[in-house]
Amino acid sequence: MHGTRRRPERDIGILSPSLAARSLAWLAWALVVLTIVPGGGTARAQATPPPATPAVAPASSLGWEDDFETEDGTLNVATTVAPISSIVRNVGGTLVDVHGVVPDGTNSHTFEPAPSDAALLSRADLVIVNGLALEEPTIALAEANLREGAAIYRLGEGTISPGEWAFDFSFPADEGDPNPHLWTSVPFALHYAELVAGWLSGRDPANAAAYAANLDAFRLRLQALDAGIRAAIGTVPEANRKLLTYHDSWAYFAREYGIAVVGAVQPSDFSEPSAREVADLIEQIRTESVPAVFGSEVFPSPVLEQIAAEAGANYVDGLRDDAPPGEPFSPDHTYVGMMLTNMALMVPALGGDAAALATVPAWDTYVV
Ligand SMILES: [Zn+2]
Repeated sequence: MHGTRRRPERDIGILSPSLAARSLAWLAWALVVLTIVPGGGTARAQATPPPATPAVAPASSLGWEDDFETEDGTLNVATTVAPISSIVRNVGGTLVDVHGVVPDGTNSHTFEPAPSDAALLSRADLVIVNGLALEEPTIALAEANLREGAAIYRLGEGTISPGEWAFDFSFPADEGDPNPHLWTSVPFALHYAELVAGWLSGRDPANAAAYAANLDAFRLRLQALDAGIRAAIGTVPEANRKLLTYHDSWAYFAREYGIAVVGAVQPSDFSEPSAREVADLIEQIRTESVPAVFGSEVFPSPVLEQIAAEAGANYVDGLRDDAPPGEPFSPDHTYVGMMLTNMALMVPALGGDAAALATVPAWDTYVV
């Protein structure tokens, strides 16, 4: 059940125009595929991909602030950071209640849940976290309050093995915890969605086909996002494919899309860098001809702007690793919207063109 915030698609109790359009578009595509499949795999490959979304953005989204009731037969899915909440919403669609425990725009790495979160976690059926040491206090609170039959599910550990962990500037190997921001790589985000679909289906087998349909629609969107990012990065001159950011959240993005992370300004304890570290960074930006340095939406830092100015690099503020753009319940307040915003900032600042992403919609894709 929901709180008091406006969520028209569910509150009116019937399909909203946007939801209906999505469902019809999906149905039309399903019929095309069903008619073509007997012809074999080649014919199927020629089927026009589904118009997974209406041409016009919906007025709102379902977000991830649902209230949890334990008697309404709806799965209660507690999540942590916004990218994970958005992925769970796209896979669970209207069939699940989703509540993100980490408020948007807060430092997720040092976040301590409030006592009131214990009550929420005690009503969850699934607690879906990133893991890889990102949300230890929230996991501890969940473990202490889980009701019978509920469980904690870790996306990061389910996606990469320790051999693939990235250790780097703010997540050094000698401190033991890897860089946890797997979702900046779209293929990893897709793997997250696949894990979520499996977990939801396991807990709610009656709706397994619906979760699979939602996953299929979301996969198409993520594939379009991934292809657009590859094309956009492909326009960046090779010598400019270097990232120097404030918050160190781009390791897996960089690995996936062929960019070198040459540095991150934020120390591993989330303090400000020392004068010596600042001087070293300025020197590094000069010698490596780093074209731009990027600030973080969640961690505003005047130091970075100074570093850029002294080193003669462009300063671009506002990269987002776990804070989607727009207000909660707005259609672009999604994981995809966040990555589109990042590319619109990053690619031109490195001398490329992000036009390949102009046709990728930001809003949710769930069909059920
Ligand atoms: Zn982060």
